[in-house]
Amino acid sequence: MNKEQQPTISSKKTRLIIGWLYPKYMSTYGDRGNILTLWQRCRWRGIEVTVKELDMGDKINPAYIDLYFFGGGQDQAQKIISEDLQKVKRDPLRKAARLGSVFLGICGGFQLFGHYYRPANEMDIPGIGILDIVTIAGNKRMIGNIVAETNEKLNMDRKLIVGFENHSGKTYLGKRAAPLGNVVVGFGNNGEDRTEGAYQGNVFGCYLHGPLLPKNPQFADLLIERALERKYGHVVLEPIDDSLELETQESVVERAKKIQ
Ligand code: GLN
Repeated sequence: MNKEQQPTISSKKTRLIIGWLYPKYMSTYGDRGNILTLWQRCRWRGIEVTVKELDMGDKINPAYIDLYFFGGGQDQAQKIISEDLQKVKRDPLRKAARLGSVFLGICGGFQLFGHYYRPANEMDIPGIGILDIVTIAGNKRMIGNIVAETNEKLNMDRKLIVGFENHSGKTYLGKRAAPLGNVVVGFGNNGEDRTEGAYQGNVFGCYLHGPLLPKNPQFADLLIERALERKYGHVVLEPIDDSLELETQESVVERAKKIQ
């Protein structure tokens, strides 16, 4: 491992603060497993982690939290949290995005990072506008295994990410958002333009449940590195033996390709 590749995180003082948005309402299909994965991949490296639940009424100090997670939820759950999201959390979350905090939104959480989500025959549910995307409910649910090849600009050492999707919302990217990747198997953002997910700076979102991060360790580490860089400058995490995770990922890809 050459000099610039040597791990630059000294475990004795490193701490990651995770803000978990609406855990009681927005955590469908095991999305809470993403929190456990971030926590464990830090702990394996001796990095301390604090997880702060940010539920209804909880205020946010944008300077304090390094990484926000916003899981999936059915339309009903998105409506329930909408007022709090707009009145209590929108402005500090927008400020956090400007300050370089990392965000990961899955499905319903991803949709509400955008400008709005328009359920079928209903009023728009406003988003917080930290991703230049809009979502409009389609007339059929997009359900099944999904495999996507990540955007090469993210320079992940493993290009494929795998998961499971279940959404009626069709998401379209505006000019300021880039696709997280392109669909290899599945529907992706809208079943039309072969894009999957979106990112803008350190704000990421996608439709991959599963949960996403246990089977895609390279993405988990990208999020951890960027969140720690916000506090500690350039970071290279100590490598972890991901052979089991990557074996799982490969088996999901094979299975998904067979049944597509
Ligand atoms: N309610 C949204 C949709 O159906 C998001 C669903 C989800 O989070 N799984 O598109």
